[in-house]
Amino acid sequence: MAIKNYDLIIVGGGMVGASLACALKKSPLKIAVIEAFASDSKQQPSYDDRGIALSYGSQRIFEAMNLWSELSSHSTAITDIHISDRGHFGVTRLSAQAENVPALGQVIYARSLGQVLNQSLTTQSNLDLICPAKVTNLKQHQHHVELELDDGQNLSAKLIVAADGGQSTIRQLLGLDVLKHDYHQTAITANITPERPHEGRAFERFTDNGPIALLPMSENRCSLVWTVKAGDESTILTLSDQQFLAQLQDRFGYRLGKLIRVGQRQSYPLKLIQTDQPIQQRVVLIGNAAHNLHPIAGQGFNLGLRDVAALTDVLSTNDNDCGHAQLLHDYCQWRQQDQDDVIQSTNTLVNLFSNNSPLIGHIRGAGLILIDTLPPAKHWIAQKSMGRGRKQPKLGRGISL
Ligand SMILES: Cc1cc2nc3c(=O)[nH]c(=O)nc-3n(C[C@H](O)[C@H](O)[C@H](O)COP(=O)(O)OP(=O)(O)OC[C@H]3O[C@@H](n4cnc5c(N)ncnc54)[C@H](O)[C@@H]3O)c2cc1C
Repeated sequence: MAIKNYDLIIVGGGMVGASLACALKKSPLKIAVIEAFASDSKQQPSYDDRGIALSYGSQRIFEAMNLWSELSSHSTAITDIHISDRGHFGVTRLSAQAENVPALGQVIYARSLGQVLNQSLTTQSNLDLICPAKVTNLKQHQHHVELELDDGQNLSAKLIVAADGGQSTIRQLLGLDVLKHDYHQTAITANITPERPHEGRAFERFTDNGPIALLPMSENRCSLVWTVKAGDESTILTLSDQQFLAQLQDRFGYRLGKLIRVGQRQSYPLKLIQTDQPIQQRVVLIGNAAHNLHPIAGQGFNLGLRDVAALTDVLSTNDNDCGHAQLLHDYCQWRQQDQDDVIQSTNTLVNLFSNNSPLIGHIRGAGLILIDTLPPAKHWIAQKSMGRGRKQPKLGRGISL
């Protein structure tokens, strides 16, 4: 079979890979996206029923990509964040009003995000969407990379972007080492309907058997992420709906009144997977392929989308050779600090809030009270969670390419 040539091939059409392809809609680059699952497949791992919290910075990026008007009709604004610790005094409250922004973030079903991104890909004239197909082999050359697919196709490109998730095949084909840390925790997700209106409030509650996040969603549902010790999920997943709601209520309390309904439950084992070699000859790893995070702070996709925005900026500086080593080096330099900061702060949160020691519990409680009474500290946390405060690429500044 003849080799098909592209400038850029994105492996993985999940949240991050598809976002990059959409961001390059107006670029002169000839692009292919290779995705393992058909667009309408219910098995697509990136686009399931989880609620994804998008930071204000991510919203700005999607605005600049002209996708926000479509995404906003599927999103629910987070106007306030309430952070508490079960069994200890101390609460911190962040509010959009105090930050002088319309919302601290937005929540969208991963599935709705996928539908909007896929719809945009189908109308993109500079792009071939090759799916379902998987990469089975990769050969690097000085000026191009060749890929073999499981359907027998051979492709070549000046640059390969690996956006194929935490178990990245491209990373494995390159033989790259990863830093792996098993948190020995599992996230259980489900949609919950409470008795009282959530009024745009997101809740993060730390409990003796793991943090609980409830994010506001449409029709007064809340998207739950409940982190439990690995092994405990099998019992929790097999509880009846009433038993599940009773256990959750006991840990979360009555801030939203009685929890009255729960949807389908899913579980995700939690591991940090990180590579310190995100660029190789004519290959760059982004999103979960480069850094697979704990979801405690809801930062994984937001971080991946900032990778997308920076890479889009860098690629637009050299249309002749988008895989040039200098471009990849510039990208890597730009992203390093943000990636390290988010990984470190996520790990600190996991360690601090998964610790049952009474002493740490008191320190946590005191910390929440202190933050709540210190506007500059609250402002700093709010700005971080909104994805602000760093050198922003054009898309992050709301400038379309
Ligand atoms: C419980 C939970 C809650 C979360 N909540 C949030 C949140 O609120 N906010 C937030 O910012 N982040 C959140 N995240 C993180 C977010 O889900 C990830 O950061 C995001 O999915 C990363 O996207 P990705 O495209 O890099 O990888 P993935 O979503 O894993 O997508 C990878 C894609 O590559 C495809 N693929 C894999 N292998 C191949 C191959 N060989 N060939 C072709 N295609 C391939 C897959 O089919 C998939 O479509 C959460 C994560 C979890 C587990």
